[in-house]
Amino acid sequence: MEPSAMPEEEMPPSVAPSPAGCQLFGYVGIEAVLDQMKIKTMKTGFEFNIMVVGQSGLGKSTMVNTLFKSKVSRKASQPSQEERIPKTVQLQSVTHVIEEKGVKMKLTVTDTPGFGDQINNENCWDPIIKYINEQYERYLREEILITRKRKIPDTRVHGCVYFIPPTGHWLRPLDLEFMRRLSKIVNVVPVIAKADTLTLEERAEFKQQIQADLKTHAISVYPQEDFDQDPDDRVLNDRIREKIPFAVVGADQEHQVNGKRVLGRKTKWGIIEVENPAHCEFPLLRDLLIRSHLQDLKDITHNVHYESYRVRRLNESNRPALSPLNGLPGKAEGSSDL
Ligand code: GDP
Ligand code: MG
Repeated sequence: MEPSAMPEEEMPPSVAPSPAGCQLFGYVGIEAVLDQMKIKTMKTGFEFNIMVVGQSGLGKSTMVNTLFKSKVSRKASQPSQEERIPKTVQLQSVTHVIEEKGVKMKLTVTDTPGFGDQINNENCWDPIIKYINEQYERYLREEILITRKRKIPDTRVHGCVYFIPPTGHWLRPLDLEFMRRLSKIVNVVPVIAKADTLTLEERAEFKQQIQADLKTHAISVYPQEDFDQDPDDRVLNDRIREKIPFAVVGADQEHQVNGKRVLGRKTKWGIIEVENPAHCEFPLLRDLLIRSHLQDLKDITHNVHYESYRVRRLNESNRPALSPLNGLPGKAEGSSDL
């Protein structure tokens, strides 16, 4: 514990040198907790779960690969393979542990290959709602155990990226219905898929139209205004809300541009660089999900969406008395239809 070399300036022997070099007499050193938290998080890692939803062929799998720069989702880009994707809603989860600078992130991506592909799309969101609620249910069951785990495995969906087809017109009833239902139980982040198929003017117009449609139908997508915590939050989130839905382009191939390797789509006319903000808004999506708002997505999932599920479920199960031994009674039928 002895300092190996005494600094030139004298220091009270009982006060250890602070990390910031603060020498105030009343200095307590609370900020050291930040380092402790950091070390703890780095050791345990954290879980982050996202879901991509949209019709086949809108670039969901490509986007996921683009997002995390690794093959984390099933890629079905060849038309022949595309054919083989079952034309029903079928959920698939792929989990990868991504490690960067000592921080471990367990990322689970849930893909929904055939959402909205049928002629009759009535209730096609049911399997998705069911999946989301099942994850809440799992967490709840762990949480109410008398001897619960110190760290409950978290499979809850923290963000649901909804792919809007680049029609350039307006939202289809299916898009509206999906977002209306899902935004009540999960953080929905809508994006305009394959934005390279629209001109810049078309993108801007489509975006405005979508924002107007969402407003008219009172659909509140992420980041929801109601959950802004302070004026700073509001300013930051307002800037994001102006840009939602992000017009994204996905690519999982690298190309050489000016001597640098960039992720992009090679076309006859040049390379669309997906990470170049001048080309598309993929960087905004990436920053929102895994940089600026990752913790916020997790917090809102826990404090708002999971909490309302929890309240509803516990109220429900209070009627046929909750048995502490068995946890919750069998899952109620109505728990998935919101
Ligand atoms: P999924 O069915 O939604 O998972 O779509 P895929 O990721 O399998 O992509 C379907 C096809 O669209 C593939 O040929 C991709 O290369 C292509 N694609 C993916 N993203 C984009 C994009 O942003 N723009 C364009 N033009 N094509 C894309
Ligand atoms: Mg796919």
